[in-house]
This record gives sequence, C-alpha cells and structure tokens, in this order.
Amino acid sequence: MCQAKFMDPAGGSIAAQFVGAHPDVLTAGHSTTESFARGEGYEWVCAACYEEFADEFRWESDEPTASESAAPGGKP
Ligand SMILES: [Zn+2]
Repeated sequence: MCQAKFMDPAGGSIAAQFVGAHPDVLTAGHSTTESFARGEGYEWVCAACYEEFADEFRWESDEPTASESAAPGGKP
C-alpha cells in the first residue's frame, strides 16, 4: 500500500540522524490503533495515502471532531 518509510526522530540520536540524512523518511503519518486486529502501529501510511484510501477502507482519524469537543466529559 504505502511505500513511505517512517521513523520517530525522538527515538534517539541515531534515529534523529537517520531522519536528517534521509529526506524521504517521514516522521509523521497515520497508523493503526489498538482497536486494529493486529495492534497499534502495525500499519502506517503517509498523509497523501490516507487521503486517497480513507474512504475506500473506511478509516477514521483520531483527531477530535467539532461535535466531540463540544461534549466534554463524554456525557450524552
Ligand atoms: Zn504513502
């Protein structure tokens, strides 16, 4: 699916160095969460792929929506 490579530059100086030396390595993207059958972070896609496939695979972003933030505390 997504051919982008990801690495967290906060993972140590070696990781930070690697990201600096490889501009094609992304440090942000969309990953699966613990609700995914194979676990959190099993699959990663870049933002462009997320946009392209979100509808097809019915992906949902964790980013809070306006309606969620309008109901703090999770009360109905
Ligand atoms: Zn991608």
